[in-house]
Amino acid sequence: MRCPFCQYTENRVLESRSAEAGQSVRRRRECLKCGRRFTTYERIEFVPITVIKRNGDRESFDRSKLLRGIIRACEKTGVSASRLEAMVDEIEAELQQRAVREVNSTEIGELVLQNLRDLSEVAYIRFASVYRKFQGIRDFVDTLNHLQSTSGRSSSQETVAQEKSPVSSDTTILTPSQPVSRAEV
Ligand SMILES: [Zn+2]
Repeated sequence: MRCPFCQYTENRVLESRSAEAGQSVRRRRECLKCGRRFTTYERIEFVPITVIKRNGDRESFDRSKLLRGIIRACEKTGVSASRLEAMVDEIEAELQQRAVREVNSTEIGELVLQNLRDLSEVAYIRFASVYRKFQGIRDFVDTLNHLQSTSGRSSSQETVAQEKSPVSSDTTILTPSQPVSRAEV
């Protein structure tokens, strides 16, 4: 991405956020040569990602739909919408970096769970219950046990996320140690 002032090609991203109702990602950049700042919009339509659903159907990756599902899982957990949008940005960016333009819906679900793990255990369990199609209480207990036995593992991911989106530093984030009561599950 060339600097519009000096045409230099190297820059750093100061901030990434969802824009245009989730249809694009707005990035604030700073030129590494002249130091001036400019904004770019990255639109997903130009590099469509196909999602292969469980039943074999294919559909275009829909970030709004993904965000809605995550927001639903995070209701009343205190995790801010801007943090969730940043999460979807990260997941989308990861998918975009892949050479293959097709991804299984289960892979996307696992990416979401990896991210939710550090934000809210309640949201993690809720999202897992929908996406893994829990059949009964046993599934909740197994997932909860797995979550507790593996928590505190991926702190490096969180550091990267905060560097990429400094805007999220003022948001409320539940600690991983937040207890999950049976009533909430
Ligand atoms: Zn420049």
